[in-house]
This record gives sequence, C-alpha cells and structure tokens, in this order.
Amino acid sequence: MKIVQCWDDGVEDDIRLCELLRSFGAQATFNLNTGLHGTDRGSAWLFRGEKEVRKLAKSELVSVYEGFEIANHTLTHLSADKIDPAEWKREVLEGRARLEDLFGRRIAGFAYPFGHCPPHAVETVREAGHLYARTCANATPWFPPTDPMLLAADCYFLSPHFWERYALAKSSGAPAFYFWGHSYELCSEDDWKSFEEKLRRLDSDPDAEWGSLSGMFN
Ligand SMILES: [Zn+2]
Repeated sequence: MKIVQCWDDGVEDDIRLCELLRSFGAQATFNLNTGLHGTDRGSAWLFRGEKEVRKLAKSELVSVYEGFEIANHTLTHLSADKIDPAEWKREVLEGRARLEDLFGRRIAGFAYPFGHCPPHAVETVREAGHLYARTCANATPWFPPTDPMLLAADCYFLSPHFWERYALAKSSGAPAFYFWGHSYELCSEDDWKSFEEKLRRLDSDPDAEWGSLSGMFN
C-alpha cells in the first residue's frame, strides 16, 4: 500500500516539515496560493488566537519545496461559495498559471480552499484540466474515486482515528492511504515529536511505501 499525503497553504512551518519528510524519504504534495506570497515572509493570521502563522516569501518557494509535488490551491484562497463564478474561474486558472510559471512544470492537482466545492466550482476545476481535486471529506478507501474532482482522503493528520483509518485501509486492500494537514498546527516540540513518531511508524511498516498523490492518477 502507498502512503500519500498533502499539506496546505505554504507556511513557514513547511520548512521544518519538508526537512522531516526528506529524512524519511517521504513524498508529499503542497497546495499553494501564489497570490498570497509576497517579497518577504508575511504574517497571515493567528492560529488558535496565539500562534502567528507566516506565509513563505515567494522567492523561497522553489527551494523550500524542492523534490516535492506542488498543487493548485487557487490564487488567493477565497471560498468558492463566497465569490461569483467568474471570479472563481480566475482564482483557479490564474492560480495554476502562476504556479506553472514559478515552478516551471505542469501543475496537475487541486485542493478546494476550506473544502468548499459547489457544483459550478467543481466543473471549473475539471474544465481547467486538473487530474484531481481534494475536498475535506473522509472516505476509506478513497481510491479509485467516483469523481476525481471530488476527492476524499482517509483522514486529517491529527485525526484521533488516524491509526484506525490506517488499519482499515490496509485490511480493505486499498491501494493507498491518504492523509492531509497544515504544518502550522504543529505548535510545540511535543507536537513535532509525536508527528515524527507517526512518520516513523508508517515508514517502518513493511507493507507500505511512500507514494505521490498525482502518481495515483497517471
Ligand atoms: Zn487552505
């Protein structure tokens, strides 16, 4: 079974996360909003009212994510159900075009900001030629999806049911286990330590290997 994962929003904590993932040889996809990265790292919001979440500077994106997959998370992270279809279309197309310019490669994947995916938004993402688009739904097994533009994952990385879902994916013969997250939710050293333990446990499973999300659709 493959283990695939993706991470959203292009924040400063991704630097540490990427180093950790590299130490395990793990693959991952990072969902980015090119319109929200400035010349310098910038404060974006306070997580739980106390931790300052900072977006990476645009100039460092290519080096920070070297070796990882990049996917489109729209231009500026607006929710599809809060903007009109024309604006959504621009968010989707412009978001991807700028990522392709910046990284010099085809961007195949998509993740809906806030997981919101009304029907017109789904069709826009499909027509734009994405291979898959992730929602925030949970399903085990999640692959093959009924509709790749409404892709679910096994679970969120901090789900209390993480290992339960993992065991279920294995016992059901699923081709892959898929989790997703935000690195800014790792706040303390204990949080990082326990996530590292999670990676170690996944890495040491002889029945599993790290895989790429877009690789499931090629
Ligand atoms: Zn997001």
